[in-house]
Amino acid sequence: MLDAEFFRRWMTATATSVDREAQRLTDLDSPIGDADHGSNLQRGFVAVAATLEKEGPDTPGAVLTTAGRQLISTVGGASGPLYGTLLRRTGKALGDAGEVSQEQLADALQAGVDAVMALGGAAPGDKTMIDALVPAVDALGESFGAAKAAAEEGAAATTPLQARKGRASYLGERSIGHQDPGATSASLLIGALLEAAGE
Ligand code: ADP
Ligand code: MG
Repeated sequence: MLDAEFFRRWMTATATSVDREAQRLTDLDSPIGDADHGSNLQRGFVAVAATLEKEGPDTPGAVLTTAGRQLISTVGGASGPLYGTLLRRTGKALGDAGEVSQEQLADALQAGVDAVMALGGAAPGDKTMIDALVPAVDALGESFGAAKAAAEEGAAATTPLQARKGRASYLGERSIGHQDPGATSASLLIGALLEAAGE
């Protein structure tokens, strides 16, 4: 079972890997965006880590709703409200249970990803974070490792796609040939589950 401590580790592991990969995320956002994705998420997850420390939410659901709220209020770019919605909706779906199963987490994340698609209007294949999140959630029933691999594959598979949502879509065909920054950061978020589990 996964307790609040696990979810706190998930968020701090995400903060650490976003910090480590910030330059790469910003570099990916240069040719098809405005070169701020790394700094956007860095700012957001620093705030998430600080707030979790200060407020000490004590259920899995509360950890994620608190983190999502912080992302929405600190990240200006498109990714802030989208990731914020992902975590808030996932947290809400977990309710106020003190511990949840991996299967419950998979179901809750599915609800979170559905909310991101409803908010942003992106479907799989539109070259967004959705292209990493959807296969990751599908693989989560298997294992955290499978989810991480699926997210990374999904992110890599955005390279040949033409963007149909977000800033990159303004480039039309010129968005082809670049990996999507948001799909890349989504693979960091999913990969951090494995670290939180200590696997
Ligand atoms: P901005 O585009 O406002 O500068 P960021 O650079 O932080 O915001 O985030 C860009 C990423 O957000 C993209 O790479 C893409 O994955 C994701 N994104 C943008 N718009 C959407 C959308 N409508 N639905 C899902 N993801 C989106
Ligand atoms: Mg950007």
